Amino acid sequence: MPAINTQRAESWRNAILEMGHYRAVLAITLFSILMSVILNGVIMKLFWWEGIDVLLKASLVAAIVPGVVAPLASNFVVKLLFELEELQAELLEMVNRDSLTKVHSRRYLLDCLEIESARTLRANEPMSLLILDVDYFKSINDRFGHGNGDLVLQEIAQVCESTLRPYDVIARFGGEEFVALLPNTSLPEACNVAERIRENVAATTIELTSGESVHSTISIGISCLVPPDPKCIDLLSRADKGLYKAKNNGRNQWAIAD
Ligand code: GH3
Ligand code: MG
Ligand code: MG
Repeated sequence: MPAINTQRAESWRNAILEMGHYRAVLAITLFSILMSVILNGVIMKLFWWEGIDVLLKASLVAAIVPGVVAPLASNFVVKLLFELEELQAELLEMVNRDSLTKVHSRRYLLDCLEIESARTLRANEPMSLLILDVDYFKSINDRFGHGNGDLVLQEIAQVCESTLRPYDVIARFGGEEFVALLPNTSLPEACNVAERIRENVAATTIELTSGESVHSTISIGISCLVPPDPKCIDLLSRADKGLYKAKNNGRNQWAIAD
């Protein structure tokens, strides 16, 4: 029962949002006038019948009162509803986006991973995942300061995002580590994507606040989910093993876990 009520409230809310502020106030006002006139007519007919003349006069009053009160009251409520909607959108953006780099958040990525893994198994399609970690990032912070380190992270995030397809998901997973989720992508295709990102990052000149510029590199671990193989599901930990291998092999490269 509560689920049905919530659904009903949701559809009312959506209807009001679709109408827009002024049309919603107008609709509520007209509805109030109509209900008031009908109720007034029914009550008078049942308990208080004094002829059609009195009914018409009373109906006029029944229309005027909500015609004045309803726009004032509904304007306030509709305004609150629109403000709430804006706040909710802002809140969702805060939860789903990383505030520094503006790519998606870890939480958003984990939600997508769950949904996409289920979809990919149903659709019998491959799906790949990349873990990207900035090489020697600590030394960038140490040499140029934390603020410049932040700039490097922002720049690398933008390079990753612009290299990927629109339906891929790129998220900051923590510190100087990013994860890219590549739906409908086989392992060889994922290796090509990883190589393109690696090249683009290495070729990017990052201008620092001091006027100096740096080049940074990343190492990438790759994993792939190929249905119906169930042991392939743990994409994150397998990609992490690939990353470990890429780091050990000398960095600025990608690797697949054995
Ligand atoms: P490796 O090549 O092995 O990955 O070495 P690394 O130096 O990149 O890795 P390490 O884990 O030693 O250092 C990561 C650094 O990232 C340490 C931490 O201070 C820094 N870091 C984490 N989050 C942020 C951030 O939001 N901004 C900045 N500027 N630095 C950050
Ligand atoms: Mg690192
Ligand atoms: Mg790291």
